[in-house]
Amino acid sequence: MRPAALVALLSAALNAAQPVVIAHRGASGYLPEHTREAKVMAHAMGADFIEQDVVLSKDDVPMVLHDVHLDTTTDVAEKFPDRRRADGRFYAIDLTAAEIGTLVATERFDHRTGKQVMPLRHPKGRGVFRVPTLESELELIAELNRTAGRRAGIYPELKAPAWHRKEGKDLAAIVLPILRKHGYATKSDPCYLQCFEYAEVKRVRGELGWKGNLIMLLGGSKGVDGTDFTRLKTDDGLKELSGVVEGIGPSLVDIISKDASVTDLITRAHAVGLLVHPYTLRADALPKGVKDMRQAAELIFRNARADGLFTDHPDQVIKILR
Ligand code: CA
Repeated sequence: MRPAALVALLSAALNAAQPVVIAHRGASGYLPEHTREAKVMAHAMGADFIEQDVVLSKDDVPMVLHDVHLDTTTDVAEKFPDRRRADGRFYAIDLTAAEIGTLVATERFDHRTGKQVMPLRHPKGRGVFRVPTLESELELIAELNRTAGRRAGIYPELKAPAWHRKEGKDLAAIVLPILRKHGYATKSDPCYLQCFEYAEVKRVRGELGWKGNLIMLLGGSKGVDGTDFTRLKTDDGLKELSGVVEGIGPSLVDIISKDASVTDLITRAHAVGLLVHPYTLRADALPKGVKDMRQAAELIFRNARADGLFTDHPDQVIKILR
């Protein structure tokens, strides 16, 4: 083999071996999830991809928000008390984008007790953060990519599409044209679209004609829409998935066993050509049996050979990897 060919082969192998670091809800270990500040921090830390969870407002504007509810990460209950539904909850779909834009976003808390979920993180109620629209976040990342001279990708998740449909809204049909408009349309564009609902993933690939990268997220056993995760994690299920998506996003509990050994899920997924990006590594809530971030990274990347990882602490994972 000629030296140039060998170099090309080696560099291709190295690139293939370098896993991607996905900033889960931004650098959410440090600043309130899904705020612009958390996204800017993730970009500055060098995250390869920055995640957006996407739900719709009353006026069909995609918002970057993890829950269909607003009452676990904002002050909606004080600002719009009349929007409370019979179940006691406040939904993004009941407020316009402009109304959501007036809310102050904060560190995640229990909506019943008001208690902060991750006690060591940014203090609840401190600072003035906002809930961004998807478009404003895509613009922000594009500007950061330009000014920093480094292209971080995006990793949008269609949240609860079946629930949106029950509420009379087609989330994917609204989000996909926005992604395409901002330059995310093909497999070579730095974007992975993700969803927990298999019927919707198939529809996105088929009926809605998504040509970009697509990730099937996998939960424990059954999804809220009826998705059979247990079946999808079998060899037959993975084989079927390989005809629909580029990769899977399983939970870390399906990768690292309680005795800190690794499962064969990633090996079986790789055998049918699927990428694997597990979620979510948190320095302040490590997987059971794992003592620190370094051990977690060794298990996930060296032993299990994941192709990427969702983490609330992208700087720590990047430091270990590079
Ligand atoms: Ca997500």
